[in-house]
Amino acid sequence: MVIHHLNCGTLKAPFIHLDSIVYCLLVETSSSLVLIDTGFGSRDYSAPSPKMRFFLHYMGVPRNVDETALLQVKALGYDVKDVRHIIQTHLHIDHAGGLVDFPWADIHVFKPEYLAANKPKGMMEFAYDKTHWAHDPKWVFHEKPLVDWFGFESIPALKTPEADFLLIPLPGHTRGHCGVAIGKPGKWLLHCGDAASPFHRDTDLHNRGESAYKLSFLSAGFTHRLIGSHVPQLRSLVRDHGDEMGAISSHDILSYREFNSLPTRDS
Ligand SMILES: [Zn+2]
Repeated sequence: MVIHHLNCGTLKAPFIHLDSIVYCLLVETSSSLVLIDTGFGSRDYSAPSPKMRFFLHYMGVPRNVDETALLQVKALGYDVKDVRHIIQTHLHIDHAGGLVDFPWADIHVFKPEYLAANKPKGMMEFAYDKTHWAHDPKWVFHEKPLVDWFGFESIPALKTPEADFLLIPLPGHTRGHCGVAIGKPGKWLLHCGDAASPFHRDTDLHNRGESAYKLSFLSAGFTHRLIGSHVPQLRSLVRDHGDEMGAISSHDILSYREFNSLPTRDS
């Protein structure tokens, strides 16, 4: 099994101290390719919805089509048709744009997330763009069973010879928000979605030092509203099981650079 760490959307908005990515994973197994989240898709750049146009502008997205999952899968030498499964942490505007580029794939999603995305409530759920699934993709809804995974509830979403893929419900950022755990007993990578952030000292899972925390001016209450309340439990998971557990999150440019052996921000 090979896990590619992809940036499917650079976010560069200096006025809010944002220098980040949309962190997606491409997992090569012997039976198929599996994407975790899809970032921005080709149509977000060629024919964006009004909501997307606003988001791209506000978040400083350079609209680089080479960053789409579609072109990155090709650039890695794969047949895009081998992407047969996509597992979504959630369906926000910066996570689900690439769905349209893989219409043949099964789209695995936690059922409450699909319901929230189609009947959004409140500030955080304003950030869906229903045009991302207007092509009626092949949804695979998951709700049960709930199985214990290191003290978290989990839902087995997909099994391949090399790895299990589990949805870990982490509601708060959205009502159906999930992490995605990839691996087998003894070796896991957890994509925490937007349930953690590397840019605030109270929400980083890895204690990276003050210089990393560009958004520490935000109040704890506001960040709690943004990402939910799972950071303490996720921190304990990383601390207590670090020998068998990696953890990343959707805008974790620091882990992305480490996994891709790129220079870190401070070097
Ligand atoms: Zn989100």
